[in-house]
Amino acid sequence: MEMYGWGRFPGIDTTLIEPVDRPSLATKLRSRDRNTHLIARGAGRSYGDSSLAETTIGTRFLDNFISFDRQAGVLCCDAGLTLEQVLDLTVPAGWLLPVLPGTRFVSVGGAIASDVHGKNHHLDGCFSNFVQSMSLMLASGETVQCSRDNNPELFRATCGGMGLTGIILAATLKLEPVVSAFIEQRTDFAANLDEIFALFEEHQLSKYSVAWLDCLARGAKLGRSVLFTGHNSTRGGLVNWSRRRISAPPRSPGFLVNRVSMGLFNRLYLAAQKSGRRENIQYYRDYFFPLDWIHNWNRLYGGRGFIQYQFVVPDTTARDAIGVALKEISALGKGSFLTVLKKMGAENANFLSFPMAGYTLALDFRIEDSLFPLLDRLDRIVLEAGGRLYLAKDARMSRDLFTRTYPGLADFQQVRREVDPDNLFGSLQSRRLGLSE
Ligand SMILES: Cc1cc2nc3c(=O)[nH]c(=O)nc-3n(C[C@H](O)[C@H](O)[C@H](O)COP(=O)(O)OP(=O)(O)OC[C@H]3O[C@@H](n4cnc5c(N)ncnc54)[C@H](O)[C@@H]3O)c2cc1C
Repeated sequence: MEMYGWGRFPGIDTTLIEPVDRPSLATKLRSRDRNTHLIARGAGRSYGDSSLAETTIGTRFLDNFISFDRQAGVLCCDAGLTLEQVLDLTVPAGWLLPVLPGTRFVSVGGAIASDVHGKNHHLDGCFSNFVQSMSLMLASGETVQCSRDNNPELFRATCGGMGLTGIILAATLKLEPVVSAFIEQRTDFAANLDEIFALFEEHQLSKYSVAWLDCLARGAKLGRSVLFTGHNSTRGGLVNWSRRRISAPPRSPGFLVNRVSMGLFNRLYLAAQKSGRRENIQYYRDYFFPLDWIHNWNRLYGGRGFIQYQFVVPDTTARDAIGVALKEISALGKGSFLTVLKKMGAENANFLSFPMAGYTLALDFRIEDSLFPLLDRLDRIVLEAGGRLYLAKDARMSRDLFTRTYPGLADFQQVRREVDPDNLFGSLQSRRLGLSE
Protein backbone atom coordinates (compact mmCIF):
# COMPACT_ATOMS: atom_id res chain seq x y z
CA MET A 1 0.00 0.00 0.00
CA GLU A 2 1.00 3.64 -0.55
CA MET A 3 1.93 5.51 2.62
CA TYR A 4 2.80 9.12 3.45
CA GLY A 5 3.62 11.32 6.40
CA TRP A 6 1.35 14.22 7.34
CA GLY A 7 2.87 16.48 4.65
CA ARG A 8 2.01 13.85 1.97
CA PHE A 9 5.59 14.12 0.69
CA PRO A 10 7.34 11.80 -0.02
CA GLY A 11 5.40 8.54 -0.29
CA ILE A 12 6.40 4.89 -0.30
CA ASP A 13 4.91 1.57 -1.31
CA THR A 14 4.99 -0.39 1.94
CA THR A 15 3.85 -3.61 3.54
CA LEU A 16 1.88 -2.70 6.65
CA ILE A 17 1.93 -5.11 9.58
CA GLU A 18 -0.23 -4.33 12.60
CA PRO A 19 0.58 -6.75 15.43
CA VAL A 20 -2.17 -7.23 17.98
CA ASP A 21 0.15 -8.28 20.81
CA ARG A 22 3.81 -8.55 21.78
CA PRO A 23 4.36 -12.23 20.88
CA SER A 24 3.18 -11.65 17.31
CA LEU A 25 5.44 -8.60 17.03
CA ALA A 26 8.42 -10.61 18.32
CA THR A 27 7.67 -13.39 15.81
CA LYS A 28 7.58 -10.84 13.03
CA LEU A 29 10.93 -9.34 14.00
CA ARG A 30 12.58 -12.76 14.32
CA SER A 31 11.34 -13.91 10.92
CA ARG A 32 12.32 -10.71 9.19
CA ASP A 33 13.41 -10.32 5.60
CA ARG A 34 17.01 -9.13 5.92
CA ASN A 35 16.84 -7.24 2.64
CA THR A 36 14.25 -4.67 3.65
CA HIS A 37 14.06 -2.04 6.36
CA LEU A 38 11.37 -1.87 8.93
CA ILE A 39 10.11 1.08 10.98
CA ALA A 40 7.48 1.69 13.64
CA ARG A 41 4.58 3.97 12.86
CA GLY A 42 2.23 5.50 15.40
CA ALA A 43 -0.42 7.90 14.14
CA GLY A 44 1.52 9.08 11.06
CA ARG A 45 1.58 12.71 12.24
CA SER A 46 5.26 13.30 11.56
CA TYR A 47 5.36 15.41 8.44
CA GLY A 48 8.11 13.87 6.34
CA ASP A 49 9.62 10.42 5.87
CA SER A 50 10.58 9.33 9.39
CA SER A 51 7.89 6.64 9.56
CA LEU A 52 8.23 5.42 5.97
CA ALA A 53 10.02 2.17 5.09
CA GLU A 54 9.44 -0.92 2.94
CA THR A 55 7.86 -2.63 5.94
CA THR A 56 5.84 -0.64 8.46
CA ILE A 57 4.97 -1.82 11.95
CA GLY A 58 1.71 -0.06 12.80
CA THR A 59 1.20 0.21 16.55
CA ARG A 60 -2.46 1.15 16.76
CA PHE A 61 -3.48 -2.22 18.24
CA LEU A 62 -0.96 -1.84 21.06
CA ASP A 63 -3.55 0.22 22.89
CA ASN A 64 -4.02 -1.02 26.45
CA PHE A 65 -4.02 1.04 29.61
CA ILE A 66 -1.85 -0.98 31.99
CA SER A 67 -2.23 0.97 35.26
CA PHE A 68 -3.31 4.42 36.41
CA ASP A 69 -2.43 5.60 39.92
CA ARG A 70 -4.94 8.41 40.43
CA GLN A 71 -3.33 9.48 43.70
CA ALA A 72 0.21 9.81 42.40
CA GLY A 73 -0.70 10.73 38.81
CA VAL A 74 1.35 7.96 37.23
CA LEU A 75 0.06 6.23 34.10
CA CYS A 76 1.47 3.13 32.47
CA CYS A 77 0.11 2.47 28.99
CA ASP A 78 0.85 0.91 25.63
CA ALA A 79 2.69 3.08 23.13
CA GLY A 80 0.05 2.83 20.41
CA LEU A 81 -2.51 4.82 22.40
CA THR A 82 -2.97 8.37 21.19
CA LEU A 83 -2.58 11.38 23.45
CA GLU A 84 -6.31 11.96 22.89
CA GLN A 85 -7.12 8.54 24.37
CA VAL A 86 -4.82 9.23 27.31
CA LEU A 87 -6.30 12.68 27.97
CA ASP A 88 -9.86 11.32 27.81
CA LEU A 89 -8.97 9.08 30.73
CA THR A 90 -6.76 11.36 32.81
CA VAL A 91 -8.20 14.89 32.52
CA PRO A 92 -11.55 14.06 34.17
CA ALA A 93 -9.47 12.53 36.99
CA GLY A 94 -7.49 15.77 37.40
CA TRP A 95 -4.30 14.87 35.55
CA LEU A 96 -2.89 16.44 32.40
CA LEU A 97 -0.03 15.26 30.20
CA PRO A 98 2.66 17.82 31.08
CA VAL A 99 3.89 18.24 27.49
CA LEU A 100 1.44 18.51 24.61
CA PRO A 101 2.34 19.01 20.93
CA GLY A 102 0.03 20.95 18.60
CA THR A 103 -2.17 17.92 17.89
CA ARG A 104 -3.66 15.31 20.20
CA PHE A 105 -3.68 12.74 17.38
CA VAL A 106 -0.15 11.45 17.98
CA SER A 107 0.71 8.20 19.68
CA VAL A 108 2.59 7.88 22.95
CA GLY A 109 5.35 6.02 21.06
CA GLY A 110 5.57 8.77 18.44
CA ALA A 111 5.72 11.45 21.15
CA ILE A 112 8.68 9.65 22.75
CA ALA A 113 10.44 8.80 19.47
CA SER A 114 10.36 12.49 18.42
CA ASP A 115 10.75 13.71 22.01
CA VAL A 116 8.06 16.28 21.27
CA HIS A 117 7.82 19.72 22.81
CA GLY A 118 4.88 21.97 23.58
CA LYS A 119 4.06 25.56 24.45
CA ASN A 120 5.81 25.18 27.82
CA HIS A 121 9.18 23.94 26.61
CA HIS A 122 10.92 27.04 27.96
CA LEU A 123 9.91 25.95 31.49
CA ASP A 124 9.19 22.22 31.41
CA GLY A 125 11.27 20.74 28.58
CA CYS A 126 10.33 17.81 26.35
CA PHE A 127 7.92 14.87 26.60
CA SER A 128 10.78 12.59 27.74
CA ASN A 129 11.17 14.65 30.95
CA PHE A 130 7.98 12.97 32.12
CA VAL A 131 8.74 9.44 30.92
CA GLN A 132 9.77 7.48 33.99
CA SER A 133 10.53 4.27 32.13
CA MET A 134 9.59 2.36 29.02
CA SER A 135 9.71 -1.08 27.51
CA LEU A 136 11.20 -1.54 24.10
CA MET A 137 11.31 -4.47 21.71
CA LEU A 138 14.75 -4.69 20.13
CA ALA A 139 15.56 -5.98 16.65
CA SER A 140 16.27 -9.42 18.17
CA GLY A 141 12.68 -9.68 19.39
CA GLU A 142 13.88 -9.34 23.00
CA THR A 143 12.00 -6.92 25.28
CA VAL A 144 14.08 -4.61 27.49
CA GLN A 145 13.24 -1.92 30.03
CA CYS A 146 14.99 1.42 30.09
CA SER A 147 14.90 4.59 32.16
CA ARG A 148 17.34 7.22 33.37
CA ASP A 149 18.79 4.65 35.84
CA ASN A 150 18.29 1.40 33.98
CA ASN A 151 19.95 1.17 30.53
CA PRO A 152 20.33 4.98 30.54
CA GLU A 153 22.15 5.14 27.19
CA LEU A 154 19.35 3.23 25.51
CA PHE A 155 16.82 5.60 27.11
CA ARG A 156 18.73 8.64 25.82
CA ALA A 157 18.94 7.14 22.33
CA THR A 158 15.28 6.12 22.20
CA CYS A 159 13.82 9.47 23.34
CA GLY A 160 14.15 11.45 20.11
CA GLY A 161 15.61 8.41 18.32
CA MET A 162 12.93 8.29 15.57
CA GLY A 163 12.15 4.60 16.01
CA LEU A 164 15.69 3.47 15.19
CA THR A 165 16.51 1.67 18.45
CA GLY A 166 13.43 -0.59 18.51
CA ILE A 167 9.67 -0.60 18.92
CA ILE A 168 8.47 1.24 22.04
CA LEU A 169 5.85 -1.05 23.55
CA ALA A 170 4.74 0.81 26.67
CA ALA A 171 5.71 3.76 28.85
CA THR A 172 5.22 4.96 32.40
CA LEU A 173 4.37 8.66 32.43
CA LYS A 174 4.28 11.18 35.26
CA LEU A 175 1.26 13.45 34.88
CA GLU A 176 0.61 16.98 36.09
CA PRO A 177 -2.23 17.73 38.54
CA VAL A 178 -4.94 20.14 37.35
CA VAL A 179 -8.18 21.28 38.93
CA SER A 180 -9.66 22.57 35.70
CA ALA A 181 -9.72 21.59 32.02
CA PHE A 182 -9.37 25.23 31.04
CA ILE A 183 -6.53 27.60 30.26
CA GLU A 184 -6.49 31.31 31.09
CA GLN A 185 -5.27 32.87 27.87
CA ARG A 186 -3.85 36.33 27.27
CA THR A 187 -3.28 37.81 23.81
CA ASP A 188 -0.69 40.48 22.99
CA PHE A 189 0.11 42.09 19.65
CA ALA A 190 3.50 42.84 18.22
CA ALA A 191 3.95 45.27 15.34
CA ASN A 192 7.27 43.74 14.28
CA LEU A 193 10.01 41.28 15.14
CA ASP A 194 11.69 43.38 17.83
CA GLU A 195 8.38 43.71 19.62
CA ILE A 196 7.62 39.98 19.54
CA PHE A 197 11.06 39.08 20.92
CA ALA A 198 10.61 41.67 23.67
CA LEU A 199 7.18 40.21 24.48
CA PHE A 200 8.57 36.66 24.73
CA GLU A 201 11.25 37.84 27.14
CA GLU A 202 8.70 39.81 29.15
CA HIS A 203 6.46 36.73 29.43
CA GLN A 204 9.18 34.13 29.93
CA LEU A 205 7.65 33.02 33.22
CA SER A 206 4.24 32.41 31.65
CA LYS A 207 3.59 28.70 31.70
CA TYR A 208 2.58 28.53 28.05
CA SER A 209 3.57 30.82 25.20
CA VAL A 210 3.43 30.72 21.42
CA ALA A 211 3.26 33.38 18.68
CA TRP A 212 1.60 33.28 15.28
CA LEU A 213 3.35 35.43 12.69
CA ASP A 214 2.19 36.99 9.46
CA CYS A 215 4.98 35.60 7.32
CA LEU A 216 4.11 37.85 4.37
CA ALA A 217 4.54 41.11 6.33
CA ARG A 218 7.56 43.06 5.08
CA GLY A 219 9.65 46.14 5.86
CA ALA A 220 8.81 47.81 9.16
CA LYS A 221 6.05 45.21 9.67
CA LEU A 222 8.35 42.19 9.34
CA GLY A 223 7.52 39.82 12.18
CA ARG A 224 4.04 41.28 12.84
CA SER A 225 2.44 38.77 15.16
CA VAL A 226 0.22 37.83 18.02
CA LEU A 227 1.51 36.21 21.21
CA PHE A 228 -0.70 33.80 23.13
CA THR A 229 0.36 33.17 26.71
CA GLY A 230 -1.52 31.12 29.24
CA HIS A 231 -1.65 29.19 32.46
CA ASN A 232 -3.87 26.44 33.85
CA SER A 233 -7.12 27.83 35.17
CA THR A 234 -8.76 27.07 38.50
CA ARG A 235 -12.22 27.73 37.01
CA GLY A 236 -14.58 25.63 34.93
CA GLY A 237 -14.01 22.17 36.39
CA LEU A 238 -12.71 18.96 34.87
CA VAL A 239 -15.21 18.62 32.04
CA ASN A 240 -14.63 16.41 29.05
CA TRP A 241 -16.10 18.02 25.95
CA SER A 242 -15.98 16.83 22.42
CA ARG A 243 -17.15 18.79 19.46
CA ARG A 244 -17.77 17.82 15.84
CA ARG A 245 -14.80 18.34 13.60
CA ILE A 246 -15.16 19.93 10.18
CA SER A 247 -13.53 18.25 7.23
CA ALA A 248 -11.23 19.61 4.53
CA PRO A 249 -12.41 18.73 0.99
CA PRO A 250 -10.93 15.37 -0.11
CA ARG A 251 -9.25 16.90 -3.15
CA SER A 252 -8.16 20.49 -2.93
CA PRO A 253 -6.32 22.30 -5.74
CA GLY A 254 -3.02 23.39 -4.25
CA PHE A 255 -3.10 26.76 -6.05
CA LEU A 256 -5.67 27.95 -3.47
CA VAL A 257 -2.71 28.18 -1.11
CA ASN A 258 -1.01 31.18 -2.66
CA ARG A 259 0.28 34.60 -1.77
CA VAL A 260 -3.18 36.22 -2.03
CA SER A 261 -5.06 33.66 0.07
CA MET A 262 -2.34 33.49 2.69
CA GLY A 263 -2.00 37.25 2.89
CA LEU A 264 -5.76 37.58 3.30
CA PHE A 265 -5.87 34.87 5.94
CA ASN A 266 -3.01 36.37 7.91
CA ARG A 267 -4.55 39.86 7.86
CA LEU A 268 -8.05 38.63 8.75
CA TYR A 269 -6.66 36.39 11.46
CA LEU A 270 -4.67 39.16 13.12
CA ALA A 271 -7.62 41.57 12.84
CA ALA A 272 -9.98 39.02 14.44
CA GLN A 273 -7.59 38.51 17.32
CA LYS A 274 -7.16 42.23 17.78
CA SER A 275 -10.88 42.89 17.97
CA GLY A 276 -11.41 40.02 20.42
CA ARG A 277 -10.92 40.04 24.16
CA ARG A 278 -7.35 40.33 25.39
CA GLU A 279 -7.90 37.87 28.20
CA ASN A 280 -10.18 34.86 27.98
CA ILE A 281 -10.63 31.33 29.16
CA GLN A 282 -10.29 28.44 26.71
CA TYR A 283 -11.00 24.73 26.87
CA TYR A 284 -7.62 23.00 26.90
CA ARG A 285 -8.22 21.29 23.54
CA ASP A 286 -8.96 24.62 21.84
CA TYR A 287 -5.86 26.14 23.38
CA PHE A 288 -3.39 23.34 22.69
CA PHE A 289 -4.77 21.80 19.50
CA PRO A 290 -6.41 24.55 17.37
CA LEU A 291 -5.85 22.70 14.09
CA ASP A 292 -7.45 19.47 15.25
CA TRP A 293 -10.94 20.80 14.55
CA ILE A 294 -10.30 20.57 10.82
CA HIS A 295 -10.14 16.95 9.82
CA ASN A 296 -7.45 16.26 7.19
CA TRP A 297 -6.39 19.89 6.85
CA ASN A 298 -3.17 18.59 5.31
CA ARG A 299 -5.06 18.03 2.04
CA LEU A 300 -5.53 21.77 1.56
CA TYR A 301 -2.04 22.05 0.12
CA GLY A 302 -2.97 20.03 -2.96
CA GLY A 303 -1.79 16.83 -4.58
CA ARG A 304 1.97 17.36 -4.31
CA GLY A 305 1.76 17.88 -0.57
CA PHE A 306 3.71 20.27 1.60
CA ILE A 307 6.76 20.54 3.79
CA GLN A 308 6.80 21.88 7.27
CA TYR A 309 10.14 23.56 7.83
CA GLN A 310 10.95 23.91 11.53
CA PHE A 311 14.26 25.11 12.86
CA VAL A 312 15.67 26.25 16.19
CA VAL A 313 18.45 28.79 16.63
CA PRO A 314 20.23 29.80 19.83
CA ASP A 315 19.23 32.91 21.79
CA THR A 316 22.35 34.80 20.72
CA THR A 317 21.64 34.55 16.98
CA ALA A 318 17.86 34.12 16.99
CA ARG A 319 16.74 37.70 16.29
CA ASP A 320 19.03 38.16 13.29
CA ALA A 321 18.65 34.66 11.83
CA ILE A 322 14.85 34.69 12.05
CA GLY A 323 14.76 38.20 10.58
CA VAL A 324 16.87 37.15 7.59
CA ALA A 325 14.82 33.97 7.10
CA LEU A 326 11.53 35.89 7.15
CA LYS A 327 12.86 38.41 4.63
CA GLU A 328 13.81 35.58 2.24
CA ILE A 329 10.37 34.01 2.61
CA SER A 330 8.28 37.18 2.33
CA ALA A 331 10.29 38.40 -0.68
CA LEU A 332 9.27 35.25 -2.58
CA GLY A 333 5.68 35.39 -1.32
CA LYS A 334 5.91 31.81 -0.13
CA GLY A 335 4.98 30.72 3.33
CA SER A 336 2.16 29.43 5.33
CA PHE A 337 -1.22 30.08 6.79
CA LEU A 338 0.33 29.55 10.16
CA THR A 339 3.85 30.55 11.01
CA VAL A 340 4.64 29.66 14.57
CA LEU A 341 7.38 31.19 16.72
CA LYS A 342 8.22 29.80 20.13
CA LYS A 343 10.82 30.35 22.82
CA MET A 344 12.62 27.17 23.87
CA GLY A 345 14.39 26.22 27.08
CA ALA A 346 17.63 24.33 27.66
CA GLU A 347 18.45 21.23 25.65
CA ASN A 348 18.30 17.84 27.34
CA ALA A 349 20.70 14.89 27.47
CA ASN A 350 19.03 12.80 24.76
CA PHE A 351 21.27 12.24 21.77
CA LEU A 352 18.95 13.41 18.99
CA SER A 353 16.38 15.64 20.71
CA PHE A 354 15.70 18.78 18.73
CA PRO A 355 15.29 21.68 21.18
CA MET A 356 18.03 24.01 22.38
CA ALA A 357 17.81 27.25 24.37
CA GLY A 358 16.67 29.78 21.80
CA TYR A 359 13.77 30.25 19.41
CA THR A 360 12.05 27.88 17.02
CA LEU A 361 10.17 28.91 13.88
CA ALA A 362 7.84 26.55 11.96
CA LEU A 363 6.33 27.24 8.53
CA ASP A 364 4.32 25.19 6.03
CA PHE A 365 5.27 25.42 2.36
CA ARG A 366 3.26 23.96 -0.50
CA ILE A 367 5.50 21.82 -2.65
CA GLU A 368 6.49 23.41 -5.94
CA ASP A 369 9.77 23.25 -7.84
CA SER A 370 10.85 26.74 -6.77
CA LEU A 371 10.53 25.80 -3.08
CA PHE A 372 13.67 23.71 -2.76
CA PRO A 373 16.22 26.45 -3.57
CA LEU A 374 14.54 28.61 -0.89
CA LEU A 375 14.81 25.81 1.66
CA ASP A 376 18.49 25.37 0.78
CA ARG A 377 19.04 29.06 1.52
CA LEU A 378 17.16 28.74 4.82
CA ASP A 379 19.38 25.75 5.68
CA ARG A 380 22.46 27.95 5.31
CA ILE A 381 20.95 30.60 7.59
CA VAL A 382 20.21 27.95 10.24
CA LEU A 383 23.68 26.42 9.96
CA GLU A 384 25.46 29.77 10.24
CA ALA A 385 23.32 30.69 13.25
CA GLY A 386 24.29 27.46 15.06
CA GLY A 387 20.81 25.95 14.86
CA ARG A 388 19.25 22.75 13.57
CA LEU A 389 16.13 21.35 11.84
CA TYR A 390 13.49 19.18 13.54
CA LEU A 391 13.55 15.52 12.44
CA ALA A 392 9.82 15.08 13.06
CA LYS A 393 9.09 17.65 10.36
CA ASP A 394 11.94 16.91 7.99
CA ALA A 395 11.55 15.42 4.49
CA ARG A 396 14.63 16.73 2.67
CA MET A 397 17.48 17.77 4.99
CA SER A 398 20.93 16.90 3.64
CA ARG A 399 23.20 14.44 5.41
CA ASP A 400 25.85 17.14 5.66
CA LEU A 401 23.54 19.58 7.46
CA PHE A 402 22.31 16.87 9.81
CA THR A 403 25.81 15.68 10.71
CA ARG A 404 27.01 19.21 11.40
CA THR A 405 24.08 20.19 13.59
CA TYR A 406 23.37 17.12 15.76
CA PRO A 407 26.41 16.73 18.07
CA GLY A 408 24.95 13.65 19.79
CA LEU A 409 25.06 11.61 16.57
CA ALA A 410 28.21 9.57 17.40
CA ASP A 411 26.80 8.54 20.81
CA PHE A 412 23.52 7.63 19.17
CA GLN A 413 25.27 5.45 16.59
CA GLN A 414 27.20 3.69 19.32
CA VAL A 415 23.93 2.58 20.97
CA ARG A 416 22.43 1.61 17.65
CA ARG A 417 25.37 -0.63 16.77
CA GLU A 418 24.75 -2.50 20.02
CA VAL A 419 20.98 -2.89 19.78
CA ASP A 420 20.53 -3.22 16.02
CA PRO A 421 23.78 -4.64 14.62
CA ASP A 422 22.09 -5.90 11.43
CA ASN A 423 20.42 -2.59 10.63
CA LEU A 424 16.90 -3.93 10.76
CA PHE A 425 15.30 -0.61 11.65
CA GLY A 426 15.51 2.14 9.07
CA SER A 427 13.30 4.71 7.39
CA LEU A 428 13.63 6.78 4.22
CA GLN A 429 14.77 9.57 6.50
CA SER A 430 17.36 7.55 8.40
CA ARG A 431 18.97 6.36 5.16
CA ARG A 432 19.02 9.84 3.66
CA LEU A 433 20.69 11.21 6.80
CA GLY A 434 23.10 8.31 7.29
CA LEU A 435 21.44 7.28 10.54
CA SER A 436 21.08 3.73 9.20
CA GLU A 437 22.66 1.90 6.27
C1 LIG B 1 -0.82 19.46 13.44
C2 LIG B 1 0.48 19.00 14.03
C3 LIG B 1 1.04 19.71 15.07
C4 LIG B 1 2.24 19.29 15.64
N1 LIG B 1 2.75 20.02 16.66
C5 LIG B 1 3.91 19.64 17.24
C6 LIG B 1 4.43 20.37 18.35
O1 LIG B 1 3.87 21.36 18.79
N2 LIG B 1 5.59 19.92 18.91
C7 LIG B 1 6.23 18.80 18.45
O2 LIG B 1 7.27 18.44 19.02
N3 LIG B 1 5.75 18.08 17.40
C8 LIG B 1 4.60 18.49 16.81
N4 LIG B 1 4.09 17.76 15.75
C9 LIG B 1 4.83 16.58 15.29
C10 LIG B 1 4.39 15.29 16.00
O3 LIG B 1 4.16 15.53 17.37
C11 LIG B 1 5.49 14.24 15.89
O4 LIG B 1 5.81 14.04 14.55
C12 LIG B 1 5.12 12.89 16.51
O5 LIG B 1 6.25 12.06 16.47
C13 LIG B 1 3.98 12.22 15.76
O6 LIG B 1 3.62 11.02 16.45
P1 LIG B 1 2.99 9.82 15.64
O7 LIG B 1 2.45 8.86 16.61
O8 LIG B 1 2.05 10.35 14.63
O9 LIG B 1 4.31 9.22 14.99
P2 LIG B 1 4.61 8.79 13.48
O10 LIG B 1 4.48 9.99 12.59
O11 LIG B 1 3.85 7.60 13.13
O12 LIG B 1 6.16 8.44 13.63
C14 LIG B 1 7.10 9.45 13.96
C15 LIG B 1 8.40 8.80 14.42
O13 LIG B 1 8.16 8.08 15.62
C16 LIG B 1 8.53 6.72 15.46
N5 LIG B 1 7.60 5.92 16.25
C17 LIG B 1 6.25 5.99 16.28
N6 LIG B 1 5.76 5.08 17.13
C18 LIG B 1 6.81 4.40 17.64
C19 LIG B 1 6.95 3.31 18.54
N7 LIG B 1 5.91 2.72 19.14
N8 LIG B 1 8.21 2.86 18.79
C20 LIG B 1 9.29 3.43 18.22
N9 LIG B 1 9.22 4.46 17.37
C21 LIG B 1 7.99 4.93 17.07
C22 LIG B 1 8.43 6.45 13.98
O14 LIG B 1 9.28 5.37 13.61
C23 LIG B 1 8.91 7.77 13.41
O15 LIG B 1 10.31 7.83 13.37
C24 LIG B 1 2.89 18.13 15.16
C25 LIG B 1 2.32 17.39 14.11
C26 LIG B 1 1.13 17.82 13.55
C27 LIG B 1 0.52 17.03 12.42
